Amino acid sequence: MIWNKEAECMSAEEKEDLQLKRLQEVVKRAYENVDYYKKRFDEVKVLPEDIKTLDDIKKLPFTTKTDLRDAYPFGMFAVPSDDIIEVHTTSGTTGKPTVSGYTQKDINIWSEVMARSLTMAGGGKKDLIQNCYGYGLFTGGMGVHYGAQKIGATVIPISAGNTQRQIEIMEDFGSTIITCTPSYALYLAEVLQKQGITSEKINLKAGVFGAEMWTEEMREEIEKRLNLSALNIYGLTEIIGPGVAQECLEKNGLHIFDDHFYPEIVDPKTLKRLPDGEQGELVLTTLTREGMPVIRFRTRDITVLRKGRCDCGRTLVKMDRITGRSDDMLKVRGVIVFPSQIERALLKIEGLDPHYQIIVTRPHQLDELEVQVEASDILFSDEVKHVEEVKNNIEDYIQAEIGLRVNVSLVEPQSLPRSEGKAVRVIDKRKL
Ligand code: ZN
Repeated sequence: MIWNKEAECMSAEEKEDLQLKRLQEVVKRAYENVDYYKKRFDEVKVLPEDIKTLDDIKKLPFTTKTDLRDAYPFGMFAVPSDDIIEVHTTSGTTGKPTVSGYTQKDINIWSEVMARSLTMAGGGKKDLIQNCYGYGLFTGGMGVHYGAQKIGATVIPISAGNTQRQIEIMEDFGSTIITCTPSYALYLAEVLQKQGITSEKINLKAGVFGAEMWTEEMREEIEKRLNLSALNIYGLTEIIGPGVAQECLEKNGLHIFDDHFYPEIVDPKTLKRLPDGEQGELVLTTLTREGMPVIRFRTRDITVLRKGRCDCGRTLVKMDRITGRSDDMLKVRGVIVFPSQIERALLKIEGLDPHYQIIVTRPHQLDELEVQVEASDILFSDEVKHVEEVKNNIEDYIQAEIGLRVNVSLVEPQSLPRSEGKAVRVIDKRKL
């Protein structure tokens, strides 16, 4: 099922015409209504009428998280505050949060893209969507909520946390789709298993997982344990919330709703645009947003864009799953390491639960990387010699993945902290 065939299966020419028209409109709107954009465009001497082709977007300056933060709280709004009907913010874990404001039209757009996402995951009127994303200032809860109602599904607004209740509802109501972070899905699977509830007793067919980075191997693990299709959703509060892109059942990339969000890939160092198929930082421009247009937002997320028709019939441009964030990128002895690489290595090993933590230290001017991994019960009760073997094995796998030798320690099952939101994977103790 495709929610909006006209928008999701457009020809390349039609798409580009629409994108250009919308780009010209949004640039004009931003220039005329947001002081920040007027100032920035004037600095680089670009006027809205200079945008004559889609390629001209490269004349425009980037917007960063810092720019949005500096405009806290409402400095980026392009409409009078009377017209803003809802606000959300980022978590603000690294300073002041950034605020996102929505007009009624923006909420309609958000509902539309989330309706497309949930339909892409196989959702429809008959589905019961257990929405375990947090409701509140975080965009996850409300975004899924709007989309679920738009497609006429039954939304269960349970929000995050309270695992026991999640499981009861899942069993009693027969939820068919679950929305949460992938690490929470794995945690739920673990609790279900502990309580002897097999995947046959639950009715889930799909999971829409996002808000943190995860790997192909983690997908396999979740699918096996919960007996569902585990799909990737992507979004960010600065742009709209969840529903910027969603993976279809083909499971080879996420479709970006590029009639609403215009994507580019740039080299994070030089900021030069890269051609399709090359890896770099994703930059997004909101093409239709009214309350808070955002021009060339640097997401810090590393991915690749791929054009062409998907086997599902959609022509929306696809992006690969996020392989890292330029912020999360760890530099250890000069080598670039993403936590996702460690995860990929760990998931290759039988008998390991993919719960881990990376600890970086610099004891004697040289970086040391320690990876703590939870052993499974079976492994932990095993002979010492075997444990040593497994430890070496893991070190080999990680070395193959990142090119560095690290210290692995196997810790007792259930000993690493569990999270009901984003998992804390890296503890960097270096004073850089
Ligand atoms: Zn597809």
